[in-house]
Amino acid sequence: MFSTIISSYPEVCEERLPMNVLSQYKSATQRARVFSESWIEKNFKCPQCSDALQRMPNNTRALDFLCRTCAQGFELKSKRGAFGPTVPDGAYASMLSRIRSGRDTNLILLGYTEDYVTRSVVAIPNRFLIEEIIIPRKPLGEHCRRAGWQGCNINIGLLPPEGRIVCVQNFVAVPQDEIRENWKSTAFLEDGNAVSRSWLAVTMGIVSRMKTESFSLADVYNAEKELARLFPNNRSIKAKVRQQLQILRDRGWLSFLGNGRYAINPHQGGFVS
Ligand SMILES: [Zn+2]
Repeated sequence: MFSTIISSYPEVCEERLPMNVLSQYKSATQRARVFSESWIEKNFKCPQCSDALQRMPNNTRALDFLCRTCAQGFELKSKRGAFGPTVPDGAYASMLSRIRSGRDTNLILLGYTEDYVTRSVVAIPNRFLIEEIIIPRKPLGEHCRRAGWQGCNINIGLLPPEGRIVCVQNFVAVPQDEIRENWKSTAFLEDGNAVSRSWLAVTMGIVSRMKTESFSLADVYNAEKELARLFPNNRSIKAKVRQQLQILRDRGWLSFLGNGRYAINPHQGGFVS
């Protein structure tokens, strides 16, 4: 899918911060922050409305950028190298309370090379930041300065492609209308409460990971153990799965093909990872 992108959007990734600007900063953490914030400000467009993002003051908690046009907020995480399926985050308790109280910031994950060139950018809409993908880390031991503090990881590997929207891949920018399309395709998740959003997002992830053209109910039931672990209070996993598939059909995300077969609709990011 990226063959057409290379010729039409090569310039987006080429704007770079001069190294002499970065070399003023002694710590690698500071250099990474200055580089990635500057890159996003110059090159990244709001995935919902394509307007430029405005940088927020550095001490604004969990809000690094704001779209003045559509009011979406973004938190930026950057990393030398590539982000894997698990993204380290801050305190476990505050992450959970932010999700439960209706967290309103989206995530941007920016991966860069050793010489500060942006290799990958992924946007995670806040509607996909659900409790089930937040994994507590072991609390820090008693010898640590912050003994007892407990961080968390975000398991983005559980999400479907629309939950981790690729904006730049291998130095190549994805066309903005494609990003916008992916972003809008799951806006329906915001209609429900946190529990219904969790069930839908997890089911979409399971179905997307099959990477098959069509699948059966039995294929989804194979994930029953995983679902039971993620939703320990639910006693009727299979009924819940059937309900999710019906909702996803009604929302146009997948189709019932007949003879017990289902398929993700082709206009979605379905099989791309
Ligand atoms: Zn916007």
